[in-house]
Amino acid sequence: MAQHQFKTEVSKLLHLIIHSLYSNREVFLRELVSNSSDALDKLKYLCVADEAFKGISFDPRIDISFDKNKKTLTVADNGIGMNEQELADSLGTIAQSGTKAFLEKLEADAKKDSNLIGQFGVGFYSAFMVAEKIEVTSRKANEEQAWIWSSDGKGIYDIESSSRDTHGTTVLLHLTEEGLEYANRWTIEDIIKRYSNHVAFPIYLTFDEKEWDDKGNEKDVKTKTERINSGTALWRKSKKEITQEEYNEFYKQISRDNEDPLLYMHTKAEGSLEYITLFYIPKKAPMDMFHADYKPGVKLYVKRVFITDDDKELIPVWLRFVRGIIDSEDLPLNVSREILQQNKVLVNIKSASVKKILSELKTLSETDAEKWKTFVSEFNRPLKEGLYSDWTNRDAILELVRFKSSVVEGWTSLAEYAARMKGDQKYIYYISGGNERTLKASPLLESYRAKGIEVLIMDEEIDEIVVPQVGRYKQNAGDASKEWELKAVNQSGADEELGEKPDTKTESDAKPIIEKIKNALGDRVKDVKLSRRLLDSPSCIVADANDPSLQMAQMLKAMGQDNIPDIKPILEVNPNHPLVTGLKDTEDALVIADTANVLLDQALLVEGVKLKEPADFVKRLNRLLSQKK
Ligand code: ADP
Repeated sequence: MAQHQFKTEVSKLLHLIIHSLYSNREVFLRELVSNSSDALDKLKYLCVADEAFKGISFDPRIDISFDKNKKTLTVADNGIGMNEQELADSLGTIAQSGTKAFLEKLEADAKKDSNLIGQFGVGFYSAFMVAEKIEVTSRKANEEQAWIWSSDGKGIYDIESSSRDTHGTTVLLHLTEEGLEYANRWTIEDIIKRYSNHVAFPIYLTFDEKEWDDKGNEKDVKTKTERINSGTALWRKSKKEITQEEYNEFYKQISRDNEDPLLYMHTKAEGSLEYITLFYIPKKAPMDMFHADYKPGVKLYVKRVFITDDDKELIPVWLRFVRGIIDSEDLPLNVSREILQQNKVLVNIKSASVKKILSELKTLSETDAEKWKTFVSEFNRPLKEGLYSDWTNRDAILELVRFKSSVVEGWTSLAEYAARMKGDQKYIYYISGGNERTLKASPLLESYRAKGIEVLIMDEEIDEIVVPQVGRYKQNAGDASKEWELKAVNQSGADEELGEKPDTKTESDAKPIIEKIKNALGDRVKDVKLSRRLLDSPSCIVADANDPSLQMAQMLKAMGQDNIPDIKPILEVNPNHPLVTGLKDTEDALVIADTANVLLDQALLVEGVKLKEPADFVKRLNRLLSQKK
């Protein structure tokens, strides 16, 4: 006999599950059935794909039974099974590294998130919500020895040798008092119909049925076994035959989300390629969307046979929030998972799927403002990744991404921006590198505002990488197509549309002042220039056309990249501001140095850049203020 300690995270998880998720206990049955279904899928696949398994005779099924008196409930399958090592690996640890995030999320928001069960491979443990002890007897296909895993979920589990007639797994729950309500025919049927109706394998329930004689006395008790799920692959039915509820229910089953999806798209392709796809967009971004080891959401079937649900190549990474299935008629059943990615058929299905999803999203954006808003708030960010990585679909994605703006509330599209443009505005302007508030308050926007020119507020880190790379926005309107360059307002040269250059008089008046500032700042700046974009503020910083912004450099450094060269800003000063004009008649080197540095430091501060020497700034500022008296 071998006694083992659960890995600490399992103990923690068990504790949380049992104490936090009990309001939705019934999902334990869905989790066990779906594990069985996965195990059957795996064996079914091996039977066609692997010589070693071809001899196995296999009539896949899941069996549920219960005994109210003994307080037990059993879920059994004749799937792939587990050997001793696999029992310990699968039921004694949590494999996924996203678990920590899951635990944190769960602790913060305990009761709502029972739908998170499964997302991180915690499904099996949910059975401890209704059981005080669980025994799992399993025999791996093609192996003789069976093993029994048992635990009360309190930190320790045992694995001993055992026996089992056939390959597969039997999960026996010793129910708690509260769990006893599930030892009931109607309850079980109801839960299975709701959650697992479309599981592709037959689910049988064994129960006792009493027989009565004419006088109403109990005559006999017969044990019966009945199939309780429909087992049809929903996606194979025609759209007309499927109700909204069925679509939703199927979504919940494959995604393990408890909420209805935001959108579904069901496509049947016939012709040179035959396949069916059923895709869903969730209402909420999956918890692991920003984890490198996120769980892919699309399953691949070939002629209804499950092939894999663990292939990140089935759908592009930037669409990783999409859930659903692809069922192909043209792939060979024994297609190896390794060569899937190069498979022409799959490549074609994939690219058609992406186009389909993009066009459905476009339609959503035009027809359902409420849903579209939900979509944008959850998935705008991964779409932007698509701009970066998916060249072929870039134009379509660019129509879908949304930005904030200096003139409208909420989100706006580039098309809407273009429609609001005045006259022959040459560029689409944006400001990036900070949070929304800092950006909106930036002095760089003063003249754009005064001129009524809209500026897009790009407050996400990814914008700084993606937008310069996209470079332009093209609009096809019938035959005529228009194109605009996307221009950052903090790049030098972005001010040409803001008005005339400062006149020669202003310029010659300012020249000695500029020289004074330049000398005082030395190599703190790349250059000092007269500004035409400032109205009220005395100064602002801009980046040289080819330099990244200071905020970007700061961000890269914070991410641990230390080979970022020191980027020097260009300081622009407002020729009409008293702080600047005041320098004209002074030759006091300290006053000039103080003013020049304060002009630069305040411009940095407004842009959210951290000052290297804040004390120095404060000292200079105080000196200037006292001198004024
Ligand atoms: P998940 O199913 O999300 O991976 P679970 O905790 O439910 O997480 O299960 C952990 C692992 O245990 C599964 O990935 C699988 O390898 C194994 N397992 C669970 N139930 C069965 C079963 N009935 N047959 C075979 N393997 C199973």
